[in-house]
Amino acid sequence: MTITRQVAERSTCLRAKVGAVIVRDRSILATGYNGSPAGLPHCFDAGCLIYESRTPDGEIEQNCYRTIHAEINAITQAARNGSAIQDAVIYVTHTPCIHCMKVLINTGIRIVYYDRPYKLNTIAELLSYAKIQLIQVTPPEAVTPAKAGNDDAV
Ligand SMILES: [Zn+2]
Ligand SMILES: [Zn+2]
Repeated sequence: MTITRQVAERSTCLRAKVGAVIVRDRSILATGYNGSPAGLPHCFDAGCLIYESRTPDGEIEQNCYRTIHAEINAITQAARNGSAIQDAVIYVTHTPCIHCMKVLINTGIRIVYYDRPYKLNTIAELLSYAKIQLIQVTPPEAVTPAKAGNDDAV
């Protein structure tokens, strides 16, 4: 999870720094952070392009039009490199949005380990049907120096 937090620091969006690391058999297969597609302007240079949408429950959501989410960027990196991610696990700094969660289900990734919950109510119904597991790891503020050595390698 430490590596996932470091990957998140590379984010180029002003709204949130999100990181994702796909792992299988203790090897990192791919990493991703939220940012613009290759060659396009980044939020920290050109500003975010915020838009609002309304969920079926009537909740207003804000997102950045410019960026690809960290999970999707990690999946694209795996695709580009020809890394099979079926049966892998993914570490994320924030729980996936419903769009990323749907894609993650279809990749065959088995477990999503996360740091911070983010709008969990929006993915609750999806998770009730899917086999993919969502597991919270110790948040950074709860990791004492003595316990820090037990933090997992990712
Ligand atoms: Zn942005
Ligand atoms: Zn997402």
